[in-house]
Amino acid sequence: MFSTDDTIVAIATPQGRGGIGVVRVSGPRAVDSVSGILSGHPLLKPRHATLSRIVMPDGSAREVDRVLATYFPLPHSYTGEDVVEISGHGSPVLLGQIVNAVTLRGVRLAAPGEFTLRAFLNGRLDLVQAEAVGDLINAVTPLQARLAFDQLEGTVTKYIGEIDTTLFDLIARLEASIDFPDEGYHFIEAKSAAMESGALARRVAVLLRNARRGRLIREGTQVVVLGKPNVGKSTLFNQLLGTSRAIVTAVPGTTRDLLTETLELDGIPVTLVDTAGIRPTNDAVEAEGVTRARGALEVAGVVVLVLDRSRPLEKADYRLLADTRSAERLVVINKVDLPASWTDGDLTTEDAAMDVDATVATSLLDDRDVTTVRRALVERLIGNESLRDTPAVSNLRHIKLLERAHVALERAAAAGRASVSEEFVLADLQDAEIALAEITGKRTADDVLHRIFEQFCVGK
Ligand code: GDP
Repeated sequence: MFSTDDTIVAIATPQGRGGIGVVRVSGPRAVDSVSGILSGHPLLKPRHATLSRIVMPDGSAREVDRVLATYFPLPHSYTGEDVVEISGHGSPVLLGQIVNAVTLRGVRLAAPGEFTLRAFLNGRLDLVQAEAVGDLINAVTPLQARLAFDQLEGTVTKYIGEIDTTLFDLIARLEASIDFPDEGYHFIEAKSAAMESGALARRVAVLLRNARRGRLIREGTQVVVLGKPNVGKSTLFNQLLGTSRAIVTAVPGTTRDLLTETLELDGIPVTLVDTAGIRPTNDAVEAEGVTRARGALEVAGVVVLVLDRSRPLEKADYRLLADTRSAERLVVINKVDLPASWTDGDLTTEDAAMDVDATVATSLLDDRDVTTVRRALVERLIGNESLRDTPAVSNLRHIKLLERAHVALERAAAAGRASVSEEFVLADLQDAEIALAEITGKRTADDVLHRIFEQFCVGK
């Protein structure tokens, strides 16, 4: 994909103006090329900042900026190669000129993600950590940043590494048993191989369970608020937001369009969608709103269905209950401050057929009840099985590979239990091993690397 033995340069700080901007140079000619464009060609001492001026190497001897050049000798640099970072004034024009000056010394412009790719290829980071660099830079919530930083620190790598070591040992013993059947000694019996595979599958399953939280934190989700007109959807929406963006009114059917707002619930970025209420209508504007509401429902992470307890349950309520039955759903029984028109028992009838445990009773005019809804919502989103001391895998590539490893390990366990030939057990274990190795990048195809690093921007 890229050549990796030449020297590369790029601006490492964001586009735009700032107090300082950094140009990063990495590769065997980093020191030589930078020193060559500094006034007086100073000797760059390892891990020292050298104050100097950039002189354009175009024969004009024109000085363009006063800079600090810092030399990080290999292998203890970001990329594992010789790196020089030039801190200049944060002007895109100046930084562009510095990059230009470096390229005039025979250095190539870096491709997106190329610094981090080199760090990976030189063993400074594994693939999970390299991908975490991208996530860390792209984080928009504090929890996203923490999750990415945890991964950069190697928590996922360590957890997977431990599983991998046990798996590797199991494979070795099984191979030995297959290869030396005549020694009269079994390094491992099929039954114990099955048991050990099952235990490994369970450890992978723990990671997968926690991946739900990881995904939500990384990607966010949609929460769609549904209900008949006038049940209190807008009130809930506004209360959750803590602002008053939606129009609250006592006249039914005024929320004609979809209102969306983004908020953070327990660290999860949530797009809250208020709907016009799914109901047949002849009014064109409202019909459009209804269509959109149905669309939003399809992609919702959680559906909040609001029912009004002060008014009798109607066909429309039952239909909404039926429509959302298979969704991840929170039913809010609202207006409990008013005289009740029905009881929980009415929800367990054949028409509604719901589990009343999955409801919260509220008077949304009361702030405290909104807190209850918020808490129930987070529980629906994350589930109560999230394990805070297990790393949260959040990258879809990792999750897919973990799922593959999990299936293979379960298959190995089943094969071992059924006393199928040991070769089959071995093949499944090896498949699991390959999947785990692809996560950390111990084994990775070029095209996978390409796909991962092209998502980075230049300078990373
Ligand atoms: P929407 O049409 O579902 O969005 O309903 P709104 O949020 O506009 O609420 C309709 C009316 O019910 C408003 O006048 C709200 O103030 C009122 N309301 C909302 N929640 C409650 C509640 O828990 N108790 C009472 N008494 N009124 C409420």
